[in-house]
Amino acid sequence: SSWRWRWKEPGLPAVAAAPPPPLGRLSLQMSRWPKAACGALRGALPSLSQSKAVLFVAGFAASLCALRLASYSLELLQWRGGWRLKESVGGVLRRSIGEKVACLTDAHFADNVLSYSEEAAKRATQLSSVRYSMLLVLGKELEDGFCGCFRAEFFLQNAKAAPLYIDFQGREIAQLIINGKLCDLRAIKFDRHRIHLPPKHLQDGRLNSVCLFFRNTYVTNSAGLHYYRDPQDGRVYIFSHLEPFFCHRFFPCFDQPSIKASLTLQVITPVQSWKVVSNGNGQKNRREGLHAVHPDYRRMLERAGVWDGLPASAALWAFLPSPPCSSYIYAMCAGDYEVIKNQRSDATVPMRIFVRRSKKDFVEADLIFRCCTQAIRFYENLFSCEYPYSKYDVIYCPEFRIGAMENVAATTFTDRMLRPKDEMNDVMLQRHCFVHLHELAHTWYGNLTTMTWWNDLWLKESFADFCAAICMCECVVKEHPSFASSQQVWLQFLDQGLSGDLQASTHPIRVPIKHTGDAVSAFDAISYRKGASWIKTMDYFIGREVLQAGLALYVAKYRDQNASLEDFVMCLTEAQKTLAPAMQVDLRRWTDSWLKYSGPNQVAVEIDSQGGMHLRQSFPDYADMVYRSQTVDVLLVFQTKADRFISVVVPRVTLAAQELTTVDLAPSSSASPTTSAGGSPIRARSGSPRASSSPTTRLFDSVVAATQDVTTKGLHHF
Ligand SMILES: [Zn+2]
Repeated sequence: SSWRWRWKEPGLPAVAAAPPPPLGRLSLQMSRWPKAACGALRGALPSLSQSKAVLFVAGFAASLCALRLASYSLELLQWRGGWRLKESVGGVLRRSIGEKVACLTDAHFADNVLSYSEEAAKRATQLSSVRYSMLLVLGKELEDGFCGCFRAEFFLQNAKAAPLYIDFQGREIAQLIINGKLCDLRAIKFDRHRIHLPPKHLQDGRLNSVCLFFRNTYVTNSAGLHYYRDPQDGRVYIFSHLEPFFCHRFFPCFDQPSIKASLTLQVITPVQSWKVVSNGNGQKNRREGLHAVHPDYRRMLERAGVWDGLPASAALWAFLPSPPCSSYIYAMCAGDYEVIKNQRSDATVPMRIFVRRSKKDFVEADLIFRCCTQAIRFYENLFSCEYPYSKYDVIYCPEFRIGAMENVAATTFTDRMLRPKDEMNDVMLQRHCFVHLHELAHTWYGNLTTMTWWNDLWLKESFADFCAAICMCECVVKEHPSFASSQQVWLQFLDQGLSGDLQASTHPIRVPIKHTGDAVSAFDAISYRKGASWIKTMDYFIGREVLQAGLALYVAKYRDQNASLEDFVMCLTEAQKTLAPAMQVDLRRWTDSWLKYSGPNQVAVEIDSQGGMHLRQSFPDYADMVYRSQTVDVLLVFQTKADRFISVVVPRVTLAAQELTTVDLAPSSSASPTTSAGGSPIRARSGSPRASSSPTTRLFDSVVAATQDVTTKGLHHF
């Protein structure tokens, strides 16, 4: 059994205990040692007879059992009756017996338990006005783990539609209080990472509160609350990483993006010198004496035997309530972090960088602050919405499982990015900047407005990539001429997106996600690069003005809420109807064809002698068999007898959503039967003096002339 006697106070968060064994098992355990105890006693006192030694040991064991029984009954009475023992009695008992009886552990703690989209959708309809408050007590060592008092407040409706549960993959829960009533834990089911709340304790159609004490362990795979001790100097760094479904591995919560809640956080650190950073906005996060702990939380810690064990060096950090956040974007980092503050005068938002001491010298603080300041201004203009939080913190984390994570106002980055300055080159610096731009863009696309479920992951990742790319190309590179140009940035996107899309593992940009296990695998080149390239196409197709208006409308309409593809298309359509009413385009059909089906289309071009251009769509292996309506510039390259190359651009050719589209290049008709808004006017470009520069007639002439001159087969490129 993992259960054992504890002869002294548990102190600061101890390694989690299993539930107390039945009393029968207790006596079994005790029966193993009397013989050894008798032997030891007689060894110490040789004059003692065997019978006296047995009597002595039996008496001692009996009194222990009696004490244990008394404690057990008192605790049971206490929990069932909902009354508290007077501190003196409880304290003496706990000190003499040590073990509490009322806690629950999850037998499936170590399993990988999934959450399904239907369950999440149902729970989202039941809950509203959700708020969390939490007091965390951090242990100093990895094996100490941490514990905390957690309180959720929520309005509950349709309680009968589905049983309500709180997600939690933790070591232990205790002191569950629902709507002010202490629950008998024997009636509570804590299984498969879920704390099932008994319906009889909940109030349908009213505000409810759930309060509990929990213990948990630090992780070392950055899926939850990660603990790291720097081997270079022994300093400790703790940080959370919660996307997509790790928040409940940190603390109890409704772990799904469609339930947003503000979090009021207090953290007790074991050491005065630790710094703590979280989502809480404002500059008022301050260190206070332990007396500022809420009396309810203090009582909980006392009952759990934690309060008395707090070290003299403990410090309390208090944070203002965070903005309403989805569970995956909370953040809490604590430890011996070094802080670099932004001193730039042009910054509109206070910015800080947190980094471990051994990597402090590698931080390109100037570059990061400059990039972030530029980006905030760029995005505020792009989305017509001010930066919504009152600070922006960057935390470089050791052993971070991904590149970076856009937690609200406290973005975490892997500190693998930080290298000695003489090892850095422009490519690395630009990539570093790009990640910062990407994470900042999430402030509007991801944090302020959040997808309802992981099937719309692209709504934040594709947009963050797209916004970061245009910010990089249209703003940041102006100050950094040595960075890669706009074309290089987009070609890289196209290359990565396309190669992901041609593989057997490809999927639609908007991918069906049954459960949280699927969500993990959706973070790939399709959701990021292909999605961003598609938005770039949209930028070209409907024009920047309409796109920007659609983006801004979406942010304004769904601020602090959740939304889906349909909501986004609605905003885009609204913007298009207002700004470009003449545009003949069915945005819904068009977006569906690109977002809900995988794979690109291949297009082959043939030119006949009458000037007809035939474009034939097909699909590569593994791709969904779908023809799409798309507008492309066609570049025709001809090789002449004299080994000269003539190139002609046929601009804005619109392909119908069918296999074959024929465009008549003859002068009598338009070469570009296409939409009127956005993009460039009809133009022709030539690699030789024989091809002329602009109107349709001359375009036709140049194509005919080139066709007649062709000796080998025409080469067609796009
Ligand atoms: Zn992202």
